[in-house]
Amino acid sequence: MADTFDVIILGAGAAGLFCGGEIAREGRSVCVIDHAAKPAEKVRISGGGRCNFTNIHTAPGNFLSDNPHFAKSALARYTPADFCDLLRSASISWHEKTLGQLFCDGKSGAIITLLLDRLADPGGVLKLGTDIKDIDATPDGFTVTTSAGPLLCQQLVVATGGLSIPKMGASGLAYDIARQFGHDIVTPRPALVPLTFSGALKDEFAALSGVATEATARAGRAAFREAILFTHRGLSGPAILQASSYWSEGSALMLDLYPEGDALAWLKAARQEGGKRTLSVVLASHLPRRLAEMMCAQLALPAETRMADLSNAALGDIATALSKWSITPTGTEGWRTAEVTAGGVATTGLSSRTLESAHQSGLYFIGECVDVTGWLGGYNFQWAWASAFAAAEAITAS
Ligand SMILES: Cc1cc2nc3c(=O)[nH]c(=O)nc-3n(C[C@H](O)[C@H](O)[C@H](O)COP(=O)(O)OP(=O)(O)OC[C@H]3O[C@@H](n4cnc5c(N)ncnc54)[C@H](O)[C@@H]3O)c2cc1C
Repeated sequence: MADTFDVIILGAGAAGLFCGGEIAREGRSVCVIDHAAKPAEKVRISGGGRCNFTNIHTAPGNFLSDNPHFAKSALARYTPADFCDLLRSASISWHEKTLGQLFCDGKSGAIITLLLDRLADPGGVLKLGTDIKDIDATPDGFTVTTSAGPLLCQQLVVATGGLSIPKMGASGLAYDIARQFGHDIVTPRPALVPLTFSGALKDEFAALSGVATEATARAGRAAFREAILFTHRGLSGPAILQASSYWSEGSALMLDLYPEGDALAWLKAARQEGGKRTLSVVLASHLPRRLAEMMCAQLALPAETRMADLSNAALGDIATALSKWSITPTGTEGWRTAEVTAGGVATTGLSSRTLESAHQSGLYFIGECVDVTGWLGGYNFQWAWASAFAAAEAITAS
């Protein structure tokens, strides 16, 4: 006889475990299945081991999706304050690091323990190391064929995430199930990912590897002012990761290395204050020295050029090079390092209120597998909690 549950959840990550706990505490029998040996591995490694579990500034504008309105309903019904209340009830303390990003004071393992306890205490079942082989809709719900045998349920929640970091167990299962039931998939692409360059630019960036500076990175219509970091293969750092989600292959990335204001006015003032100072010294008063020297080389100006010898037009060129540096990445570091997957199960086939499939009653998609992708800074976990809550609320009300 196959084991029977009210609800089966595929994927024991942030969204799946949270959804399972919400359903189990309402007295429904629930089973969470994962092929990995350990649950919620991305929660464990997130935020440098301290899990940036939400962002107090969460708003629909912090998410990318083909339908920018889709996330509104779920985000409004489970907020960062709600998750903070949950942590408070479990005596898990946190702090705000920057830009509204909340991190655990201790290790992220505390959140995993909380999620596991909320599932197990009311009797929820967790099956790890279990491969999912087939899903079939039946008159009473679904049959999930697994490596441990068939399981039956009335409602099925797909929470198997996106394609980022395959070595941590990421797979395209959610997309396969979605296609099976007639859903469209918005082509998945790596997001929150370092950008790579080729040719001379790659060599110049490699020479600067490890250098960081504050900048505004623009891709498409989005602009992010945070740190950028030069790497052996290109650019990383929070401003670049954020911009990467909006970058499309073949398009340019615009960097402003003087994000605090008017670069030309600053250069003119610097010339007025000390005409004998060299350009590289002036640039290095604002940029890391090695980057300042590279900018001089880019401008084909000797680093020892004196400020007094630079005309207004020359300062204009330097200001433009600094504040409108247009560079075209050749690609991204790909799935190996992408923090999240943009795209996924198209929102057109899902209810924004419940995350239920419009094609198959009792089938839900939550978390990262859906075409809703958050900015860097706790937004992706907030989507995981909020979408899980929305589905759990609908399931327990049914
Ligand atoms: C290095 C890193 C750091 C991050 N830091 C942060 C952060 O600080 N803050 C933030 O908001 N976001 C962060 N993120 C993003 C965040 O981790 C994800 O958005 C979030 O985990 C998505 O939750 P999920 O439950 O939808 O998917 P996941 O957490 O990916 O969980 C999916 C689960 O499904 C399982 N699974 C997949 N395929 C199958 C299959 N075929 N069969 C059975 N099981 C399967 C996986 O093993 C996994 O356990 C980070 C991501 C990475 C990679």
